[in-house]
Amino acid sequence: MADKKAVRDIRVVVMGAGMAGILSGIKLLEAGITNCAIYEKADRIGGTWRENTYPGLTCDVPSHAYTYSFEPNPDWSHMLPPGAEIQEYFERTTRKYGVDKIIRFNEEIVRCEFRGGRWHLETKNGTRDEADIVIAATGVLHHLNYPDIPGLASFEGACFHTARWDHSVPLDGRRVGVIGNGSTGVQIISALAPRAGKLHHFQRTAQWIMPVENPAFTDEQRAAFRADPALLHYMQNQPDYLANVERFNNSLVNADSEGIAEIEATCLANLENTVRDPVLREKLRPNYRAACKRLIYSPDYYEAIQHPNAELVSDGIECLEPAGVRLKNGRLVELDVLALATGFNAGMFMRPMNVVGRDGVQLNDVWADRPKAYMAIAMPDFPNFFMLNGPNGPVGNFSLIDIAEQQLHYIWTFIEKLRAGECREVAPTHEAMQAFERDRLEAAKRTVFGSGCKSWYLDAEGIPATWPWTRTRFCEEMKAPRLEAYAIAS
Ligand code: NAP
Repeated sequence: MADKKAVRDIRVVVMGAGMAGILSGIKLLEAGITNCAIYEKADRIGGTWRENTYPGLTCDVPSHAYTYSFEPNPDWSHMLPPGAEIQEYFERTTRKYGVDKIIRFNEEIVRCEFRGGRWHLETKNGTRDEADIVIAATGVLHHLNYPDIPGLASFEGACFHTARWDHSVPLDGRRVGVIGNGSTGVQIISALAPRAGKLHHFQRTAQWIMPVENPAFTDEQRAAFRADPALLHYMQNQPDYLANVERFNNSLVNADSEGIAEIEATCLANLENTVRDPVLREKLRPNYRAACKRLIYSPDYYEAIQHPNAELVSDGIECLEPAGVRLKNGRLVELDVLALATGFNAGMFMRPMNVVGRDGVQLNDVWADRPKAYMAIAMPDFPNFFMLNGPNGPVGNFSLIDIAEQQLHYIWTFIEKLRAGECREVAPTHEAMQAFERDRLEAAKRTVFGSGCKSWYLDAEGIPATWPWTRTRFCEEMKAPRLEAYAIAS
């Protein structure tokens, strides 16, 4: 990405030092763009991997695929790596590429306004900065969703959201409840079933559970990865895995595709073969299309929920009481600890930050109906402002690192143009944005995400907020921007 024609000393500000922000920092420094900074609201890098530390946290994307393409890691312990190991990978990589030196920790950007041809930024602490280009890498799943269950505050035991896990609270031998059975809740149940005295999993809607194995890599395997870069490259790009990702993600655009039917058959066989009690099996049987919610990969959830200490509670929750959870059927489930695995409000992105584009255009107004961005990256009236893993980007069971790398590659065309002085401002045209959004909404309704379930993929009107076309199309689009869709001002 190095630019030999550079004539301008442009300043780039990146928002967020998670996976995508660190990636941006690495690529900026590599290209010699040292006039840059990453603003991070917390005191450490890592984004989702910093915030989530719950028991059982693992990535459900294979470890070697969940790495930067340019920074393979021979030392992964498992096929599906624990969260702490991923956090460590990002910390190590941040230091290795010198990105730690450009991060400003404990600096939350609260205002970002385009005035006089530049972005003017202000943090909660009152720090001010200016930039020619802003890259928003603020993440998707960071605004916690607390359930509106009556009496929640009255519970006298320990209660916390899973992304704020309180490690001072003992779990062994205690009565633990977990509300929510998304990827998070399921991983926690697997980890706590052997530890808790009694473990209650409160399920509102059954999930599709895809079986997966999670073998540890042996010392010999890790030594071989270290010794042989070609082998490590192969691990990062295993043809079978990539073909599966491609096939699965290209199936998502059509709920009636063969790929979705295959996923359902595999998950149902997992349910039938693993869950022995027919009553429990029926409680765990989903009644909507597989992959409508994010598919859950688990090596052991069905075994964990059949542990003698574990109980699936599928009767509705009436309220919380000081002693525990009162069910709609009148039963009180007494608890010492309650973990809220109730997910995130995904539609916020960089908000509540006040982002103001050209001529006072407010992001909150532009996104009043739903968050939207041309090609999931840029918006009219917000020149030189680009998003990584922003609205309408691909979501699913694959590496978001790969998505961010492709998006940054796309953005780089504009960074080079701005840096070379070929233009001063670049933003998609209103026409391009409207046509994109019209087509996106039309296609979104046909995806499996819109086939009749509730999930964080849906916007306030129940329309999937994701990339609605095939992954293949996304990769094609990210190869280079269609310049005719942009207003490029010199
Ligand atoms: P989630 O998928 O949004 O699941 C939230 C859960 O809470 C659902 O089971 C939901 O039930 C339940 N819930 C919410 N409000 C409730 C209420 N008032 N009463 C009862 N139940 C309630 O959240 P998540 O599990 O934290 O996962 C979010 C995303 O994070 C995942 O989809 C994934 O993208 C990512 N993640 C990834 C990994 C990984 O291994 N890579 C691990 C964890 C998370 P309903 O289904 O009935 O709405």
